Amino acid sequence: MTNKRLAVLTSGGDAPGMNAAIRAIVRIALDRGVDAYAIYEGYQGLINGDGYIRKMTWDSVGGILHRGGTVIGTARCDAFRTHDGRRIAALNLLKHEINNLIIIGGDGSLTGANLFRQEWTTLLSELVSRGEVSQELADKHNHLNIVGLVGSIDNDMFGTDMTIGADTALHRITEAVDAISSTAASHQRTFVVEVMGRNCGYLALMAAIATGADWALIPENPPNYDDWEARMVTELKAGRAAGRRDSIVIIAEGARDRHGNPIDSAHVCKVLQDSMPHEEVRVTVLGHVQRGGTPSAFDRNIGTLMGHAAVDAVLSAPPDAEPQLIGLRNNRIVQSPLMKCVEQTHAVAAAIAAKDYERAMDLRGSSFKTAYRTMQTLLRSLPHEPTPGQKRLRIAVLNSGAPAPGMNTAIRAAVRIGLDQGHIMLGVTNGFMGLIEDNIREMDWMSVNGWALMGGSELGANREVPSGRDFYSIARNLEKHDVQALLVIGGWSAYQGAYQLFRERDNFPAFNIPVICLPASINNNLPGSELSIGADTALNNIMWAVDRIKQSAIAQRRCFVVEVMGRYCGYLALMSGLATGAERVYLPEEGVTLRDLQSDLDQLVNGFKHGKRLGLLIRNENANDVYSSSFMAALFEEEGGGLFDVRQTILGHIQQGGDPSPFDRTQATRLAARCIEFLIEESKSDSPTSAFIGIESGGIQIHNIEDMNRMIDTKYQRPKRQWWLDLRPIAKILAQPAPNHKAAAAD
Ligand code: ADP
Repeated sequence: MTNKRLAVLTSGGDAPGMNAAIRAIVRIALDRGVDAYAIYEGYQGLINGDGYIRKMTWDSVGGILHRGGTVIGTARCDAFRTHDGRRIAALNLLKHEINNLIIIGGDGSLTGANLFRQEWTTLLSELVSRGEVSQELADKHNHLNIVGLVGSIDNDMFGTDMTIGADTALHRITEAVDAISSTAASHQRTFVVEVMGRNCGYLALMAAIATGADWALIPENPPNYDDWEARMVTELKAGRAAGRRDSIVIIAEGARDRHGNPIDSAHVCKVLQDSMPHEEVRVTVLGHVQRGGTPSAFDRNIGTLMGHAAVDAVLSAPPDAEPQLIGLRNNRIVQSPLMKCVEQTHAVAAAIAAKDYERAMDLRGSSFKTAYRTMQTLLRSLPHEPTPGQKRLRIAVLNSGAPAPGMNTAIRAAVRIGLDQGHIMLGVTNGFMGLIEDNIREMDWMSVNGWALMGGSELGANREVPSGRDFYSIARNLEKHDVQALLVIGGWSAYQGAYQLFRERDNFPAFNIPVICLPASINNNLPGSELSIGADTALNNIMWAVDRIKQSAIAQRRCFVVEVMGRYCGYLALMSGLATGAERVYLPEEGVTLRDLQSDLDQLVNGFKHGKRLGLLIRNENANDVYSSSFMAALFEEEGGGLFDVRQTILGHIQQGGDPSPFDRTQATRLAARCIEFLIEESKSDSPTSAFIGIESGGIQIHNIEDMNRMIDTKYQRPKRQWWLDLRPIAKILAQPAPNHKAAAAD
């Protein structure tokens, strides 16, 4: 009896992260005892058959995680659009006895897959009556199971918050726009940057938020006035008058005016040049760089997790099951009927074509709409004037804890959103120390100009948690500045400090104000949030370093022990292990025993004996106090008996540095906007709440600060429940070759 079989193909435009999905699909299938096939060159390969349909081994998907594009090729294929073409495709699948198919592509590819499944029975009877396959073979494979993953940089698909590739495209766009901004500012120039996205404004919108652009045009929401050119010019001029040294306009390739006429970058450039004759205006059309390059940590990891889910979905599908689409919703892998997702996706395009922009925005969802509103505020040249007679709150903001990339982005968003609503924003220098020592100053609109993309903490941050006499000083300074609400952005000490102020409320009336904590720590160890600001940047920093470390060892038989940060939280270790293909991660949540080390050593020795060239072990800094990274490296080297050598690398503060990733920037902005909304609302109450905000599986959640203690493990300074621990089995399967593939390389 033949094993169960499945095949994977990539179709349509390529997208970074597809390789991670292919690798996971093949390896999870092998782990489940299922034969895995890859169909090269998309549907064209299915029609060509023969060498285009190849059985995969554990090793055939090694060394591909870091590569952009798709290693099995993709193509557009007109023949597959025809019934005859699909009959040949069915014949080729039957020749290999494959009737489980995972398609990674865009809406076009997935529509084709659905049609193929609908016609499957007809195609089989045609093949039987033409004598091309036996009735017996047709009967044996009378169902075609289809599961789709969305690989597309456009993030234009319903059924998933993120498509595989969109995050990487945002990385490329923000890198480019950050670079353009610095040269534009030097020469006081205006740049018009055109980004991809077809009918979807996601990339343009998120890029505008992430880079602090000054104007943006997206297909779903054209300016709802006819004189948009004049208004854009007025705003950009006002921005310059307010002190900006550059102007950046981001335009989606599908942008249009409200009558549906396309707006292209050349037109915008001409408008700006004509109306600002002393200004140099330049156009940059980013083009295919957005598709290229190494996938981001996020895309590698969603590719992997979606690939894993796809195998389980396709293998467990009941006969005649509707094809399913694997997506991501609020940080969870989910499954939905594929054609419903395709239909909804087409509905957005149809709404745009019908100039029903309200519907287009509605269909994109509430987060998209909120992000658009936030962007409109952030790119203003000046805030709205306060409404006459409105209550103007005095809201203070501070950073506490180690600097986390994205802190400045959050401060910028909070300050501008507060000011725009007529409130007075106060910046506190050096965390709680600033409150104690009275380092508090008013912040205006331009004081946060350019902060969207800056790493570190411009306000200054430290780990001071107030105690004893500090409360008296803090209360006095809060009263002196008449602070009526407080936003604390930071890590463990931020949460502890806010909690202490809350506890001292009865002793100090000045503390009876709304306070909210926004999670910003690379360690991702904060309660009430599955992700904290800074962790994504750190993950990308680690991945970048590990990719290079691995490349350095190409000629030797070498094993690396890489130590990463995280304090007592293993998030960075596990997720960087997933993103780089480490064969073992050591987490503080699990500890390390002598028995573990013995068995890891046995595996290394066995692997290297069978031709393995590279080993990669990632160890959290506190995985075990005694078995340090240097101990482990020395142990493996000594016991390896000359089979391989071992190097240890302690990545250190490189993980904390650098510009925030686009994900950290957009999430920092989103959370800060929600925090300001909360503070304004709570300040209306006589007994305002203190709280902490976070990104959770149900979306953004705000928790009462009184719930904090029961949610945390105080000894190890991490949440009691950590969602990502559930991903450990997947990481283990992908790292450990199936028993009959002993020679597999680390990744
Ligand atoms: P994407 O999947 O990125 O949207 P395309 O729309 O170009 O890209 O589709 C990729 C391939 O999928 C096409 O070249 C064709 O082979 C197949 N395909 C797309 N739409 C259909 C369809 N309606 N029927 C059959 N095959 C289709």
